Amino acid sequence: MNEFEGKVAVVTGAGRGIGAATARKLAGMGAAVAVVDLAGSAVAEDISRNGGKATFVACDVTDPSAVESMVETVVGELGSVDILVNNAGIIRDDLLFKMSVNDWDAVMNTHLRGNFLCSKAVQSHMVERKWGRIINLSSTSAKGSRGQANYAAAKAGIQGFTRTLAIELGRYGITANAVAPGFIETEMTRSVAERTGVDFDDMKAAAEKEIAVRRVGRPEDIANVVAFLAGDDASYVTGQVIYVSGSPD
Ligand code: NDP
Repeated sequence: MNEFEGKVAVVTGAGRGIGAATARKLAGMGAAVAVVDLAGSAVAEDISRNGGKATFVACDVTDPSAVESMVETVVGELGSVDILVNNAGIIRDDLLFKMSVNDWDAVMNTHLRGNFLCSKAVQSHMVERKWGRIINLSSTSAKGSRGQANYAAAKAGIQGFTRTLAIELGRYGITANAVAPGFIETEMTRSVAERTGVDFDDMKAAAEKEIAVRRVGRPEDIANVVAFLAGDDASYVTGQVIYVSGSPD
């Protein structure tokens, strides 16, 4: 299936986890993919080895000049930016009374400032071509999550940001949507288990009991929904938040 032949996708935080699965999925559907992350990863090489088109671009999404030069590099090497997946993310969990200002700022910066900088940097290329897809990673934590005041606020903020992009950019053929995952098995969720001293399999088993479809998510579950939102079949879907959590909420 080559739906994205001729399209260029930027996926931030694509060195592993959900971003890596998304980069592989879009490349498998014909897109040329910029794998953007802080440090090098094997993902772009893997995609190329399997016959896809991908390039790694190092970039800290919180740094305005790094983001500008990342987009310049992508446009120079791959020709345009048609699809942006704002996926890079971190957690710095703590209860409110213990949460440091640094941990608050780090989470706000990576998620909100990162989404803002990357979206702002790509939009002119999309406007010029009268076609674009911006897909932002929110989370079920946006509804409130103990120990995650910073992360919940950032992920809720992403929803308002997404709706605003949809309103401003729709007239240029650009849609903006958010995907809000529940528990997905990645390094991020493993790190929560490690930090709290819980065995990861026990944590998964406990989570599975609360999930309607009785399993935790895989990165591919999210990549599949991102790919749908990036395609032409979703051209009338914009400003939405799609919860992908194996449950109704
Ligand atoms: P991971 O921690 O596995 O991967 C995140 C990636 O983002 C890492 O490669 C990390 O790089 C990169 N990254 C972090 N900060 C920056 C930055 N400033 N600039 C560029 N890249 C950066 O996370 P997941 O795959 O689990 O999560 C992906 C997205 O999905 C995140 O936005 C997350 O909040 C969201 N999400 C995840 C859920 C889950 O259950 N896993 C649930 C709901 C939402 P490095 O390794 O070098 O730090």
